[in-house]
Amino acid sequence: MDIIKYIDKIRQDFPALKTKVFGKPLAYLDNAATTQKPQLMLDAIEDYYSAINANVHRGVHFLSESATEAYEGARQRLQQFINAKHSNECIFVRGTTEAINLVATSFGQQFVKQGDEIVLTQMEHHSNIVPWKLLCERSGAELRIIPVNNNGELELSNLDAIFSERTKIVAVTHISNSLGTINPVKEIISKAHERNIPVLIDGAQAAAHIKIDVQDLDCDFYVLSAHKCYGPMGVGLLYAKQKWLEQMPPYQGGGDMILQVTFEKITYNSLPFKFEAGTPSVADAIGWHAALDYLAHLDHKAIAQHEKVLLEYCVQRLQELPHLKFWGTAKNKAPIVSFTLDDIHPHDIGTIVNEYGVAVRTGHHCNMPLMDSFGITGTVRASFGLYNTIQEVDQLCDALQNVHKIFRR
Ligand code: PMP
Repeated sequence: MDIIKYIDKIRQDFPALKTKVFGKPLAYLDNAATTQKPQLMLDAIEDYYSAINANVHRGVHFLSESATEAYEGARQRLQQFINAKHSNECIFVRGTTEAINLVATSFGQQFVKQGDEIVLTQMEHHSNIVPWKLLCERSGAELRIIPVNNNGELELSNLDAIFSERTKIVAVTHISNSLGTINPVKEIISKAHERNIPVLIDGAQAAAHIKIDVQDLDCDFYVLSAHKCYGPMGVGLLYAKQKWLEQMPPYQGGGDMILQVTFEKITYNSLPFKFEAGTPSVADAIGWHAALDYLAHLDHKAIAQHEKVLLEYCVQRLQELPHLKFWGTAKNKAPIVSFTLDDIHPHDIGTIVNEYGVAVRTGHHCNMPLMDSFGITGTVRASFGLYNTIQEVDQLCDALQNVHKIFRR
């Protein structure tokens, strides 16, 4: 296959990639923050609002039944995407952040008390720290942290000392959003399960790059956001083993999550509805379904290879720049490259390359504890998606040469 032609063809499916920035072609290298959207997904959302729009699960009329069918169809598609055993283990949420808040609140209320421990890692996104910290403040539990080594890999040799009788849950990111490290989550899950400790995997960065199989991982919870894997903003997924969802109290109260309400007593709905209070983001769930169908038709092997080439080429070209330091050089990495250039502030670098049409992320990437452990305040991050090209890597590296000139280094 001619990969250049193939990627060029894929690019035609993403209208936002045609945007010009200051008259220059956009090089969109901020895919870890959010990915661009395929036209098929945009069409599916427009079609829903134009022809079906109705509230789900509530009406007996034609439109409501059509909307319900499409919404539940999206759930089944998600079940297939992550290989969950049952579709009622798939809860629609607003995104990864809401999914983690749901688990920390509901699982926390049921299972976590004073003196218990929650194990996180040094590289977690704030969305996988703050909800647990809030739980600690409410319950009197404490955080235990798995450290990260200089390459940006988890230091797992000490797990036996970190896990204890008091550990109630472990929450780990599948792929680091700032370093790209792919963590050995299967190994962590199996170690935790030896002690009957449940594990939540933050899959926000993983869904766009690796095949997710929750049964193979045997994780207890898996969370992700549609917008980071070519789907719409405003919808995400909480996967949880049925045994946990059955024991956990509802997270929010309202319509759809009840069977019966009296002022004396409330009976909850069955799964998954017990955890979906209020009108859900129906159009976005349907749009996500369309995005997943679009992705399913692509050549995953060719794309994985292409993303690997982009990563290697980017690292090779960045090495040409004097005073550049990489952050995160793990052996097993997703196409995410983080770096600093001498003592130039990452925001200055981002602002300058923006003038050359290059979109990168700068700052702490919602990883302040990780940045603190490295003794830095932030990095410049280039993160690649399936539609990026070698020319865009060159566009970034050429723009960075100008940063050097401007700062006379
Ligand atoms: N976890 C990780 C690893 C992430 O990269 C992100 C988004 N940057 C989140 C959680 C939060 O995702 P969202 O904002 O979609 O809820």
